[in-house]
Amino acid sequence: MIKYLLHLLHNLLSVIILCSMLINCSIINIKNKVDPQLQSFHDEFIHYAEIKNPTTIVVFGDLPGGGDVSGAIGVCNYLFKRVTIDRRYWKEATLSQKRALMWHELGHCELFMGHNDKMIDRYCPQSLMHPYLAPEGCLQLYWERYKLEFRRK
Ligand SMILES: [Zn+2]
Repeated sequence: MIKYLLHLLHNLLSVIILCSMLINCSIINIKNKVDPQLQSFHDEFIHYAEIKNPTTIVVFGDLPGGGDVSGAIGVCNYLFKRVTIDRRYWKEATLSQKRALMWHELGHCELFMGHNDKMIDRYCPQSLMHPYLAPEGCLQLYWERYKLEFRRK
């Protein structure tokens, strides 16, 4: 009986050790997986939002309708903690649009923020978490205001 229990304990320990190895490995992999072109935007967000252990994968992809105003230009997959940025949109986007898109998607995937569709006026949304990316003029005018909501209190 004791021999059986020891055997069981040994198996249990092996399983626990294997699990912790797998978890450690996946954290290391995820942590480093950001497309080099997106890295500086990612790092700027992570630093500003004071996130200690960022775990979101950020990659380029071809999204349906991407590059079009009506199509998705970025997606956060909550389940896999993966942001996909539309390749075609990125090529045409201005610096402030790139930054706003990255902050929006990382707002979803790192901070689990939802959408906010309120507006400041007819043109400018109240938040970067608006379902549509703010027009260039709004990003220029309100960036300091927009970024505040990502700061950890
Ligand atoms: Zn969104």
